[in-house]
Amino acid sequence: MDLSLTTEQQALRDTAREFVDAEIVPNIQEWDRAEAVDRSIVGKLGDIGFLGLTVPEHYGGSGGNHLDYCLMMEEIGRGDSSVRGIVSVSLGLVAKTVLSFGTEQQKRAWLPGLCSGASLACFGLTEPDTGSDAANLNSKAVRDGDDWVISGSKMFITNGTWADLALIFARTGGAGPKGVSAFLVPTDTPGFSHTEIKGKLGLRGQSTGELTLDNVRVPADAMLGSEGEGFRIAMAALDKGRMSVAAGCVGLARAALDASVRYATERDQFGKPIAGFQLVQEMLADMAVATDAARLLVWRVADLIDREQPFGTAASMAKLHATENAVNAANQAIQVFGGYGYIDEYPVGKYLRDARVMTLYEGTSQIQKLLIGRALTGVSAFT
Ligand code: FAD
Repeated sequence: MDLSLTTEQQALRDTAREFVDAEIVPNIQEWDRAEAVDRSIVGKLGDIGFLGLTVPEHYGGSGGNHLDYCLMMEEIGRGDSSVRGIVSVSLGLVAKTVLSFGTEQQKRAWLPGLCSGASLACFGLTEPDTGSDAANLNSKAVRDGDDWVISGSKMFITNGTWADLALIFARTGGAGPKGVSAFLVPTDTPGFSHTEIKGKLGLRGQSTGELTLDNVRVPADAMLGSEGEGFRIAMAALDKGRMSVAAGCVGLARAALDASVRYATERDQFGKPIAGFQLVQEMLADMAVATDAARLLVWRVADLIDREQPFGTAASMAKLHATENAVNAANQAIQVFGGYGYIDEYPVGKYLRDARVMTLYEGTSQIQKLLIGRALTGVSAFT
């Protein structure tokens, strides 16, 4: 196994690093306080090719592979998890899903705009009453002549109030996963509305919406994949999405470590830098080891996907470890900063607030353990 990066990958990582340092890092405190990133960041991400990094060039993307994607996600996650989430959802959960399951017409209709940042997408699976148990979702789509008419509501949807396109999962058949279908719904369709969810603990720069679909009428060719295939499509998207969240968490943990090392070497107590105390070094060492381990788990997922090997369990392992590590690393960083870590003049408190949600969305840590446990034992503990 060769873990070295190609010249192109090093160049991509350097470009992402420079972009993040110039366009994101200087703004994170202001965006966090304002509860909104400056929306112009979407166009900038499109201009630099990040919103279509893994989409083929003939659909407007940059044609990168999944390791490229993880390198970019680590850098954006190092800068700001809200921005990382905007890209993860629009590119990772929606554009890539259109690429995998869409018709040629659907790809041509949506991918160029999503890659350029002219349009943004959201992924509407979770509902007020169904989160982890997404297979039992309640939104309904009823066939009416040549159209489908969709009604229901979606909860906690990233990019929800900004998106031009919503990938909506709704029930077209009986109970359970086989009754679910997926639809590409333009958000300006009559009957589609959204409300911003305010007061989040973290990811405050990101739009998170509650969506309402009240008899939203879409043509038959808005269905993505075939009827009853929606849950399989959602799970395929989330398997890759978990790699994306994990890569972003490696970046967040690295940011927490970098900030801690810098602070520890500058802060003097008892007549010397706190970096010289063994108990402080222990915190830094623990953060460094667990973060490198997280990166290796993430890269393994990318390698499996790029070699077209099964990767679902590896993605759950990477997501579980990287997200829990991000929470731990951010928490340790606050400890290194002492009281200064508790005020938002320094970013480490924000890292903890942002990291906390990563163990919840795209499958909670408990759900990842059940997926890993099922793969190990062959026995499902879900019901
Ligand atoms: P629940 O499913 O009610 O879980 C509550 C607790 O019960 C958790 O600890 C869970 O682990 C535990 N639990 C549930 N079932 C089991 C079980 N079988 N065994 C053991 N423990 C169990 N969703 C989208 O569709 N699109 C998005 O873009 C999106 N973005 C989000 C952004 C944010 C900021 C947030 C907070 C959420 C987002 N979500 C999104 C929703 C997210 O995926 C869900 O919150 C998540 O799946 C958990 O569902 P829930 O909140 O309903 O919790």
